[in-house]
Parts: sequence; C-alpha cells; structure tokens
Amino acid sequence: MSQINKRQFLHLLGSISLGLLPMMSCYEKKEAKLPDINEETDQLIKKDSLPPAIVEHVSESDIILLTRNQADYEQYNINYNKQINHLPKYIAVCKTEKGIAHAIQLARHENLPIAVKSGGHSFEGFSTNEGGMVINVSQMKQVKWISDYEVEVGAGLKLSEVHDLIYAKGKLLPAGSCGGVGIAGLALGGGYGFFSRKHGLTCDSLLSLRMVDADGNLKTVSAKDDLMWACRGAGNGNFGVVSSMHFKLYSLPKNFASHNIYYRKADAHTFTTVLQQWFEATTQLSNDCFAAFVLNGKTIMMLFTNYGTQNIEAIIAPLKAAATTWSHSSKPTLQAIKRFYGRKEPLYFKNASCGYYNGFDDLKTISEEIFNKAITSAGMVFQINTMGGNINNENFKKASAFPHREMQYLGELQSYYETAGRFKRAADQFESMQALLKQNGINKHYANYPSLNFTNWQQAYYGNNYERLQQIKKTVDPENVFRYAQSIEIS
Ligand SMILES: Cc1cc2nc3c(=O)[nH]c(=O)nc-3n(C[C@H](O)[C@H](O)[C@H](O)COP(=O)(O)OP(=O)(O)OC[C@H]3O[C@@H](n4cnc5c(N)ncnc54)[C@H](O)[C@@H]3O)c2cc1C
Repeated sequence: MSQINKRQFLHLLGSISLGLLPMMSCYEKKEAKLPDINEETDQLIKKDSLPPAIVEHVSESDIILLTRNQADYEQYNINYNKQINHLPKYIAVCKTEKGIAHAIQLARHENLPIAVKSGGHSFEGFSTNEGGMVINVSQMKQVKWISDYEVEVGAGLKLSEVHDLIYAKGKLLPAGSCGGVGIAGLALGGGYGFFSRKHGLTCDSLLSLRMVDADGNLKTVSAKDDLMWACRGAGNGNFGVVSSMHFKLYSLPKNFASHNIYYRKADAHTFTTVLQQWFEATTQLSNDCFAAFVLNGKTIMMLFTNYGTQNIEAIIAPLKAAATTWSHSSKPTLQAIKRFYGRKEPLYFKNASCGYYNGFDDLKTISEEIFNKAITSAGMVFQINTMGGNINNENFKKASAFPHREMQYLGELQSYYETAGRFKRAADQFESMQALLKQNGINKHYANYPSLNFTNWQQAYYGNNYERLQQIKKTVDPENVFRYAQSIEIS
C-alpha cells in the first residue's frame, strides 16, 4: 500500500467531514483469484495428519489454507486498520461450510485460537491473531431470495454488495454506511445507520443464521434459540463461524435527502452552543431522520438525513442561521447512500466508541474541554450520531443481547495519522480524551466500536446481559476456541 503524503493526508481529513457516518474511509479489497493448493498446503490437509473428525474429503473448492510463505497470504492478511499487523499461522480462506469445519478441526488439532474474519474492519483487529488460525469467509457471497421480503446472504458480503443486491430490487436492509464493512461483523455486533431509528438495528432484522460450531458441526440457529439472542449484538467471533444470515427486509424509500451544515473556525463557546442546539434539534426529528454532529479540527459539520415526509427545515433553521455555509441534496436512495461509502484503502487510525448519551446534559460540563483537547490532537475527529426511535422497541430488546437501547445517541472518537511512527502520539491523545469522558461517567459503549483501553468492557458492551452471554459461551464453546482480547469469557 503506497504511503500518502502530508498534503494528501490533510485533504483526506478534510473530506472526512464532508459526507459522514462513522469513519468515512473504506476500502474494497482487490478480489483475489484463489491459488491452487500447493504441496505444503496439501500436506496440511493430508488425511493422516488430521484428527478423525476431518478425514472426509475436502478440496480447494472448500478451503484454501495459506501459510506465511505463500504469495496470497499477504493479501488475505490485510486489515482496514493498517496499525494491525498480526501474523496468523494459518489463514483458511473458506468457501463452504465444509471448509470452515475443516479449518476448525485443524485449529483444534494444533490447539490454536480461532479468529473469524469477514470484512476486516474491526478497529482493534479482533478478526485476526498472532500465530493462530484465522477463518476468512470473505469469499462466501451466496444470495438466496426466500421471498420478496426475506433473503439469505453469505457472510462474506460487504455492505456495498448488499446494497447493490437488495436495494437495487427496491428492498431495504437497515445497515451501516461504509461500503467496505462486512455484513457479518456489522450485524453480529448490532449494526446501526440511517434507517435504524425506523426499523431497528441490523441484528433486529436477523431471522436465523447458519453457523459452524466449535466441534465443526453445522447449526441452523433460529429466532427463538438462546444462541440467536446472543448473536444479535454479541455474536462477533464468540460462538462459532457464521456462514450465512437470513434477514427480513423492508421497502426501500424512494428518495433520500441530506443537509450539511458547517461552522468553520469554531471556538469552544461556539462548539458548546452549537452542540446544545444540535441535541435539541434532533429531539424533534421523526424516525425517518438521522443526524450526526462532527468536530474535525475547528470545523463543525452537522448532517441531517431524511427519507420521510417530515419537513425539517424549521428544525434545522436555527443551526443554519449562524453557520458558515450549508448545502442540501435529494436523490434516489441507492444513489444517495453511495456518497457515504467512504475511502476504500486501509488507513492508520485509532477509533473507538466514546459513549452512549441521553442528551446534552451528559456532556455539558466537559464540552469546552472536549473541544480544546480535540483541536490540539492532530487528526482527531469527535462525532455523535442519533440512535433512539425503534432501536428501543420492546420486542427487539427482548430478542437480543444488544444493550443500552434506551440511550438516544452514540459517540465515536476517531484519530487518523499518516505513518506507523505517529501511532504513539495519536494513541496518547486518544487515551487522554477517553480518560476525560470516563471521569465524567461515560461508561456505556458499542461493541462494534471496541477499544482495548476499556477496562470494564464486559459491562460497557453488554450491560446486564453479560452473565447470560457467558452461560451461552460455556455451552457452545466450552474450550474457548473462539477467542480474542475481548471475547466473551467462560464464567
Ligand atoms: C470505516 C468504518 C465504517 C463503519 N461504519 C459503521 C456503521 O455505519 N454502523 C455500524 O454499526 N458500524 C460501523 N462500523 C463498525 C463495524 O460495524 C465493525 O467494525 C464490524 O465489526 C466490522 O465487521 P467486518 O466484518 O467488516 O470486520 P471483521 O474485522 O472481519 O470482523 C469484526 C468482528 O466480527 C467477527 N466476525 C466477522 N465475521 C464473522 C462471522 N462470519 N462469524 C462470526 N464472527 C464474525 C470477527 O471475528 C470480529 O470480532 C464501521 C467501521 C469502520 C472501520
């Protein structure tokens, strides 16, 4: 991956605030031509080197097993966060459930931890590991329409592909914005975006799924199973390898409007005033709307989107009144959301949840300090997005492990830097902002925006659901073969 120079980097940071949803930068991995299994790989799947459970025949149409000295290893070892550079012992590029079962058995035979990878967008690299087995399902892109409003998709699809397949047919799966994010990692950890306030999180549309478990057995997990409850919000790499997901769909709205409002060269006072006004404005939005507040350098950018019939002009008028500039566009939905796909190439970044909030009061006493810290931390972006609406639907709540649904907003702290050498500075500044928020009682976080700095991550991500998740983990993966730094622990 070529380095970007300082000018390009500053340009990139500028563009981060142009479109917006969490992190505007995504990439599309070059589609790989899978290699033939070579002699060494063949050795690895020779019958007599494997435990009895996997003596069945597997071929390269099921699995390609890559080791460090193989050409294609590097390309499958790419992570969206360039700071993540683990070297797994094996990368198993699986194309079928049989291939996945094989990879699991091999890992167990060699006593290796297993990480699962789809879109490779984990902030902290939870889809890879050092010296273990990585099961990569990015080639599993099958699509089966069950009915007009139900579809089963392979775990390897990226959001841009989901949109092209589903939205193009006039149907909607409420998901996230960035085109390169994997549908599997997104949905298993929750999944929110423009359509969540109306239809709930992506995991709330999940009707059933197929999973290869820790013993290599294929399970169909259906709506009422405890494991389904766990996979709606806590399914990321904890219980097994999800191979496909069956989703309920909605009708795609015809048009999608967005308003961008900018305040440039803001100071701490303006920041606080505008932040308060933004919070107030968002309380009046219908569930067809979404809003984001972004501080990038001294520029404040606010995004309001709307695909319903509410006229939001009067709501955003006070924000426009003192703004430096603002713009508005309305387009057919699929076309409009492509604008938010973001950057394709991997980046150096440090990102994490910076908490769920109920309103301005949660930040009132520290808003000026947030501003001052953010503007003196090179490459830092502080962002808040609306949650609320049907995310807090009682039925969704009961059916899922996703907690904190009553919270109305979600914050994301982002920090971008040019080279690996800048990591320490970025990490220190990042940690200092995290400490400020923590000291002020911000302690609920989104599992899909993880941070290794969260010491109490179990409660932060899963709240009161953690104990039940531990029980389920004990039942389905008693030997903890699926593990990473913040995976569900066995009680
Ligand atoms: C640029 C960017 C934009 C984002 N935008 C949004 C957004 O708009 N809304 C939102 O809610 N989130 C967003 N996120 C966060 C995103 O939801 C998480 O990073 C998500 O976990 C990424 O999934 P992935 O498949 O791409 O990543 P991966 O790194 O492949 O996986 C992430 C986690 O999911 C697990 N996992 C992946 N596939 C499987 C599987 N098949 N079976 C079991 N476990 C699996 C992994 O083990 C890992 O723990 C964004 C992240 C980035 C980097």
